Amino acid sequence: MDYNNNAGIDLHIHSTASDGTFSPAEILALAQDLNLAAIAITDHDTVNGSKEALGIGVPPSLKFLTGVEISASPPPSFPYSGSLHILGYSIKIDDPLLNKTLATLQEARKNRNPGIIGRLNSMGVAISMDELLNEVGGGQLGRPHIARLMVKKGYVESIKEAFDKYLGKGKPAYVDKYRVDCSRAIEVILGAGGIPVIAHPFLLNPRNIEDIEELVITLKAMGLKGIEVYYPEHSPYVISQLADMANRHELLMTGGTDFHGSLKPEIKMGSGRGNFFVPYILYERLMESI
Ligand code: AMP
Ligand code: ZN
Ligand code: FE
Ligand code: FE
Repeated sequence: MDYNNNAGIDLHIHSTASDGTFSPAEILALAQDLNLAAIAITDHDTVNGSKEALGIGVPPSLKFLTGVEISASPPPSFPYSGSLHILGYSIKIDDPLLNKTLATLQEARKNRNPGIIGRLNSMGVAISMDELLNEVGGGQLGRPHIARLMVKKGYVESIKEAFDKYLGKGKPAYVDKYRVDCSRAIEVILGAGGIPVIAHPFLLNPRNIEDIEELVITLKAMGLKGIEVYYPEHSPYVISQLADMANRHELLMTGGTDFHGSLKPEIKMGSGRGNFFVPYILYERLMESI
């Protein structure tokens, strides 16, 4: 492929190793079909998706970055209601400290699920842990799996309704989970030779752009290297604001769709809701920084 200005990339993709519905092999095949120039598999708190893709072998026409999306807690001075997710790119997937940290997060997810099920049961939503494990296959269980099961069993019409009524933060079946401190998340990504990037800043529900800028400055002092500027939920205005911010603070820009397959059916790989596009040049700049 000719990596001209028209080539698109997608650096935020979930596989069956977490709560995506496409296996790493299917992701590689789809990315090729879509003529994407570069992708990264960024599963929640696991590198198994990236590992599997490397094991299968990435087609020569596609550039591939290993990735992870770590659930982190914000600095105490930034009490956001949304989740702080730190993306790590081009990580060494066998790094011992990274894997140890991820194992802790995986354990925390396991411990949380019975709590969510218990709350749902007490609200009259009859789903069991066994049913849920059937739903997931080998990957890590997340709230989207629970939401899908609730749709299947007719308790809600859509995944969105499951989050809005039950599973979202502050809703009755929400159970918090342990997260690693953001400084730790950044440190382990750097330690694994990777590039730490703050994911979808506007999903943090900031009051304004200044909130994000303060957070970015704090995270940069911890070693943050980039901002996920391009994201389907970011308006053109937000994208331009975040791009300016990245320039002001000499941070890299990244972008991706947060593709989850049928667990986020409105979002397509590479193109989001249809007109979303992340330019290849961002991948090149990321590579130059490594
Ligand atoms: P978990 O890792 O179990 O906390 O679930 C996080 C995932 O749930 C994210 O990747 C989102 O895709 C999804 N999610 C979080 N909040 C919502 C929401 N309000 N509506 C739909 N999906 C959501
Ligand atoms: Zn997810
Ligand atoms: Fe995220
Ligand atoms: Fe994500």
